[in-house]
Amino acid sequence: MKIVVLKFGGTSVGTIEKIKRVTDIIIEHKKKKNKIIVVSSAMSGVTNDLIKKSKQISNNFSDSEYDVLVSSGEQVACSLIAGRLNHKGFKSRSWLGWQIPIFTKGPHTNSRIQKVNKNKLLRFLKEGGIPIIAGFQGVNMSERVTTIGRGGSDSSAIMIAKFFKAQRCIIYTDVEGVFTTDPNKLKKAKKIKVISYEEMLEMASLGAKVMQPVSIQDARLNRIDIEVKSSFIKKPGTLITKRTNLYNNRIITGISSTHNDAKVTLVGVKDRPGVAASIFKPLSINFINVDMVVQNISANGKETDLTFTIKAEDLNKTKKIIQENKRINFKKVLFQKGVSKISIIGVGMITTPGVTFRMFQALANKKINIQVISTSEIKISVLINKKDAKKALITLHKEFKLQK
Ligand code: ASP
Ligand code: MG
Repeated sequence: MKIVVLKFGGTSVGTIEKIKRVTDIIIEHKKKKNKIIVVSSAMSGVTNDLIKKSKQISNNFSDSEYDVLVSSGEQVACSLIAGRLNHKGFKSRSWLGWQIPIFTKGPHTNSRIQKVNKNKLLRFLKEGGIPIIAGFQGVNMSERVTTIGRGGSDSSAIMIAKFFKAQRCIIYTDVEGVFTTDPNKLKKAKKIKVISYEEMLEMASLGAKVMQPVSIQDARLNRIDIEVKSSFIKKPGTLITKRTNLYNNRIITGISSTHNDAKVTLVGVKDRPGVAASIFKPLSINFINVDMVVQNISANGKETDLTFTIKAEDLNKTKKIIQENKRINFKKVLFQKGVSKISIIGVGMITTPGVTFRMFQALANKKINIQVISTSEIKISVLINKKDAKKALITLHKEFKLQK
């Protein structure tokens, strides 16, 4: 049995008109003789509204009631889709997480899907039905409703594709696919036809807000091909797949940038074991996400300089934590707002020498100063002054021949 999972995001089902359009897409797939499983998110804005309501009731709203409340948006969207399909003469019904059941594990508001029961849905599919499943929700061993984290309906779709051994999982959204860089920042950005899970993870966590990063990790672990495409424009999207399915010879797949970072430098930190841990422990306790970390080798064997970056909005809190930290000794501390991180990403760099040089040379030619560098197997990031960010993006996009 060929199964295709179709997932619709909040903007795709944001209005009654859009829900009608979505059902046309479902019917089109159904006519291709496939078994279709639909996963839907809540209509856009609904989940945020529900969260707001919980806060108005209490600033200590219980996590288990939060899950019951915020998962209700998906129920509305699913019944509207199923109702429209019925109206058009198709057999369809909505399924909530607990009805299937979709079993989850872990804390309320942030559970993970562990198992999806197939019996009832398989029977319904065999009868020619189109099940419309509520994304984002499940049920735990105590029979309480759970949710799996904001943006979680992507993960719902991927896990359903896994348990049903679906041929394909198509994520319908409000963008045409994954681009070489944010098309809102650079007009010349181009849609990527095929991208590996690893590259997509780098792109996603660096700010290409196409899919929830956890769901890409789920897809990678389970080897599920994902197609991301627009529910509004009929055009091929982006295929997210395993590395070995990439057969072109491009070096760089995409470039991402952040625009609201801050840099902290501790000058003359005592160079002995445990120092870095004492600096970062209080930051992690306070949920401050540290991004790039660079420590220089100590010239005199006693002291070293340590630089790290954080989100600009965490700067004041970080200042306070560093200045009140009695466990660390340093000569002085420097804080700088207005820095940007530009990263080039591509599995092609593993096998291509000279990529680092090309990146640095291209930036140097434009007189862009690099403050911090960090690299991974498939990514090179540089920290630069925020005012150079746009220029750097244009320069690198051109250097690695990514334009339209
Ligand atoms: N409706 C949920 C949210 O807004 C889940 C999702 O959109 O994927 O976070
Ligand atoms: Mg969403």
